[in-house]
This record gives sequence, structure tokens and C-alpha cells, in this order.
Amino acid sequence: MSAEVLAPAMNPFFACGGPVKSYSLTHLADRNLLHDLAALVARDRSTTATLLAHIGEVDARKLYLPAAHSSMYAYCVQELRLSEDSAYKRIQAARAARQFPLVFEMLADGRLHLSAVCLLATHLNAENAPGLLLDASHKTKSEVEQLIAKRFPSTEMLELTQLISAAAIDHGQLAPGQVHALHEVHAGASVDQLAPGQVQTIAPRARLQPIASQRFALQVMVGQGTHDKLRYAQSLLRHQIPSGDMAAVLDRALDALIVKLEKSKFAATDRPHARRQPLSRGTRHIPAHVKRAVWARDGGQCTFVSETGHRCQARALLEFDHIEEVARGGTASTDRVRLRCRAHNQYAAECTFGAEFMRHKRQEARRAAAKKRETMAREAAACAATQAAVERERERDVIPWLRRLGYRADESRRAAERCEVIPDGSLEDRVRLALSFLCPRSVTPAPA
Ligand SMILES: [Zn+2]
Repeated sequence: MSAEVLAPAMNPFFACGGPVKSYSLTHLADRNLLHDLAALVARDRSTTATLLAHIGEVDARKLYLPAAHSSMYAYCVQELRLSEDSAYKRIQAARAARQFPLVFEMLADGRLHLSAVCLLATHLNAENAPGLLLDASHKTKSEVEQLIAKRFPSTEMLELTQLISAAAIDHGQLAPGQVHALHEVHAGASVDQLAPGQVQTIAPRARLQPIASQRFALQVMVGQGTHDKLRYAQSLLRHQIPSGDMAAVLDRALDALIVKLEKSKFAATDRPHARRQPLSRGTRHIPAHVKRAVWARDGGQCTFVSETGHRCQARALLEFDHIEEVARGGTASTDRVRLRCRAHNQYAAECTFGAEFMRHKRQEARRAAAKKRETMAREAAACAATQAAVERERERDVIPWLRRLGYRADESRRAAERCEVIPDGSLEDRVRLALSFLCPRSVTPAPA
């Protein structure tokens, strides 16, 4: 911004080197007003690029963890007070810009806007990034969308757009132009742990919107199977819910699901066992009564607290964490176990054993899991091949047919051996050939 723009006499925003209370600009001449506005936009772009660099660096260093937030997204929303959508976009853009630093420059000098970066993020790779970014220079959001549609015509983004617009138009709720706004709501309304790079390729999310005090509108697209289950549950509940009210059916379904999930998550039960196993050192097993007590004590929420006293608000991906490492003799008693979200559980392990050690451990675990998946897939393929071979053999076996026609076992076997001259023949051809070597008895052969 030029010194002229910052002149205190010209613009009250910058009087005495800082903003003043009044935002009235009525005293400014048109020319100065336009000049200042352009300068502010330029400064805003530069600030945005710098802001993204900061977000990217905090994200890479995972500084949100010691501040008691389970993700960068949670940190931006809860700590920095950005809106959900704004946080999502900035994290996505920051990650793309760290990978392709040209993005920072182009954002700062105005060749790209934030929406364009978010649209391009999932399509950028080392080969196409320079060309694609330059092609998107100075384009509006819709022009960038057209560019992407042209360059990546078979991406899932197109399928997604069609899917949402078709459903929306079907129900007369959305004009086609609103598709993208809806999509952004989906993206912004995501849970704590986000992978912004995936925003354009994920399936459309449900929309849960407050519409009045304690009333919410739920909009969700479901498949045929889910639809059938809903209808079936609705008919099973007709005695209790004669109107078939879908909200009441869903409420019952959730009650049943929560009981099941609580049981598997923290062994919730109305009838706990009277006899309890004694706690032993050096085992990761946490007894059911300890899980129940810990869950109740911690209120189903991560217990990590930052130095400033902020408690992590995560209620998803919670794990039971041994306060004293099992490897160091920790026991699974109620006072030695706590709830931690996955991010803070890993963070604690990194603090104890070192980030590099844990990274190595995670890589090892991932490799082992991939190897296990590979072995299982190979075994399943081999099993399927054997099964198919058996099926094929059974289908080709003429002996049972000959036996049904009244031939003895040894005759049938000898006739079947003759069929080896037509290994690819159909069962019918093979039966016919076998019969040509045999004298029919009392039964006339039927078509195979
Ligand atoms: Zn946490």
C-alpha cells in the first residue's frame, strides 16, 4: 500500500498508525476512496498468502495438539474463531500451497483467489501444477470450474454435481445454480478430522441444519438398501408409531444403535458381572468395568488439557489410554486409564517415545496391515479359483448323468474317459459323445 493511501489525513482507518472507532468514509473524495479500496484488496491478498503460510506451518508442526485441539480444523474454528467453511478452505489451500509454493505467489499478487485454489487443490500434481495454475490465472470461480471440467472430464466431481442437482431438482428444493453452495455446506459441516484434499471427491454429506429452537432439518441421500431398511423399520413400528413418522422411526433406530455402540465402545450394560478379574501388569486389556467407569468419569470426551487450561473437545475417535505406558508396567485400573482422542493419544506417545520412533512404528503397522490385506486377498483369490475349478469340473462331469440314465459306475467311468477328446465341449456334447459309446438301455437320453 502506498504512503499516499496510508496518509492519516486522507483515511481515518489509519489515523495514528491504527484503526479508529469510526468507519464512516463519507468525507473521502471518490478518487481516494477507489484508490484506497484497491490498495486494501491488494493488502488483503498479501495477508491471505501470509496467513496460509502460517496455517500450513502450524498444521505441519501439529501445534494444535499441545493447545488441546484434535485437528487443525478444530484449532481454526474453536481457537481462531474462523467459520467452519473459512477454516476448511484455508487449510485446504494452505496444504496445496505448501506442496506447490507458486500458489503463495499467485495468491499474493492476485492471479489466483482462494476459491480457485480450493477447486484446483485435488487436481494438482508435480507435472501439471505449473501449467494448470497459470491457466487458472485471473479466472473467476466458474471459469476455473469450467477449466477443471475440461481438463478432468471424468472426475467424480462431475458425478457428484449431477447427483446432487438431480436429487435437488427432483424434490424441487434447489435451483441448479445452488449446487455449489450446497456442496460447500457439506464440506464445511464436516467433523473434526478433515482431509481437505479430498473435498471434491467425497460423496455428498448429510445436511443437518437448525431451523428453529430445538428443531433441525436433516437432508440425506440414501441408497435403495437404506430406503428399504427404513421402510421395513417403519412397518415394524406401526403399533408404536401408527403415523409412521420418519423422525420417530429414526429416533428409535438411533436408540437401538447407541445401546449397541456403547456396549462395544465401553462395555455398557445394565447387568454388570459381580465377579471381576484381578488387574494384571503388562497387559493392554482393559476390563469392562474399568471402561464403563472411565467413560462415565471422563464424560465421553478427550481429557487432554492445554497449558492454558483448554480441554480438547473431541468426542469422536476416542481411545482408552493407559496413563502409565503398558511397556513400563502400567495397569488398567480406573485411576490409571483415561479417555483420549486418537490425535492426543498419538501425541502423548510421541512425547514419550519421540516423534521419529512413533512415525517408524506407524509405518511398520501400516506395512504389516497392508501385507496382511495382500495375503488375505491372495488367499481369497486362490480359494475362489479352486472353488470355480471344482464348479467347472462338476458341471463338466458326465458320470452322474450317465448313472441317472441307468448305466453302471464302471461303464459310466469308461464312457466319461472317451470325452477327454473334447475337453472344451459343453456338458450336452460330452453326454452325447459318451452315449455314442454305450448301448442305451431302457431309458431314452434326455437333453442335458
Ligand atoms: Zn483430544
